[in-house]
Amino acid sequence: MSESIEKIKCLIIGSGPAGYTAAIYAARANMFPVLYQGEQPGGQLTTTNEVENFPGYPDGITGPEMMIELQKQAERFGTDVRHGWVTKVDFSGEVHKAWINNEIEIHADTIIISTGASAIYLGLPSEQKYLKLGGGVSACAICDGFFYRNQDVVIVGAGDSACEEAHYLSKLCKKVTMLVRRDEFRASKIMQERVKNTTNIEILYNTETEEVLGDGQVVTGVRVKNNITGKLTEIPATGFFVAIGHKPNTEIFKDFLELDKTGYIINKPGSAKTNIPGVFVSGDAADHVYRQAITAAGTGCMAALDAERYLAATDSTFEVSTSTYN
Ligand code: NDP
Repeated sequence: MSESIEKIKCLIIGSGPAGYTAAIYAARANMFPVLYQGEQPGGQLTTTNEVENFPGYPDGITGPEMMIELQKQAERFGTDVRHGWVTKVDFSGEVHKAWINNEIEIHADTIIISTGASAIYLGLPSEQKYLKLGGGVSACAICDGFFYRNQDVVIVGAGDSACEEAHYLSKLCKKVTMLVRRDEFRASKIMQERVKNTTNIEILYNTETEEVLGDGQVVTGVRVKNNITGKLTEIPATGFFVAIGHKPNTEIFKDFLELDKTGYIINKPGSAKTNIPGVFVSGDAADHVYRQAITAAGTGCMAALDAERYLAATDSTFEVSTSTYN
């Protein structure tokens, strides 16, 4: 039970590039945002080593460092950044309610959801070990493919993402071995044809990952098993890419917000608005297509501007900033 209810103008849920960018804009617009970081402060980027494709960092920056910088920038303008996990929401009334760790109850005029999505991994101990070490396991070819130029890599998955990422990797790497667990792809015909017609992609059907091999620091190969014959094979590789899907972190919103069939929040086209007035979405929680830090940051900005507009229209006490748009 809540002991007291905190009333605020703007609650931001999530601490990836979308959440922090929303916070920077919301704080500069007199919305006094409170941002809850969630279970993984900094979000998915904290599992990435080097970020080289975010504009403004000519020498690259590590994912964790970038998230610290974004947090500092959000705090500089007055964002109240807090540890905590939003466990429940209620968007059924005029007031938008959220509960933190099942204890603190917050009533917010506007809520910006930036809870992101999580890559699904196989769950093998060896995969998790090299993922944590930053030693050659990745769920994002566009982020990390560059580090494997002219090297041999393995990618697991048979959907559109796996085909797209395998094709992307084929332009950088010497050889890409694709592990497909059934005797056919799930991906659309056009994506399948693209990988099948790429000479440096080898497709192994009916093949599952037994173990990611390494020297204790970095990946050196993958042991795979043919699930028809039982034959084990070791494939030398320096990178192991997992492309078996993402899960948007939207479970707690499903009773109130319109989600697509895979759980992504549906935003109104060209905006960050959801089906509930005053509730906005940014970043990967609504994006299964681009999934980049820079696109998340862009939609974080959109969400804060949409929220500011909403407050200006609904709250006569709200002082509109001399702001960024008319
Ligand atoms: P999907 O769910 O479509 O595909 C996941 C793939 O991973 C499947 O082939 C599945 O195998 C495989 N897989 C799942 N678990 C395992 C496992 N434990 N071991 C081995 N393989 C496994 O996810 P995607 O991320 O590819 O796509 C998500 C959505 O986004 C889709 O709707 C897709 O069409 C869309 N998309 C569209 C793109 C485009 O149009 N350019 C680009 C990227 C995504 P199995 O088939 O055997 O179940």
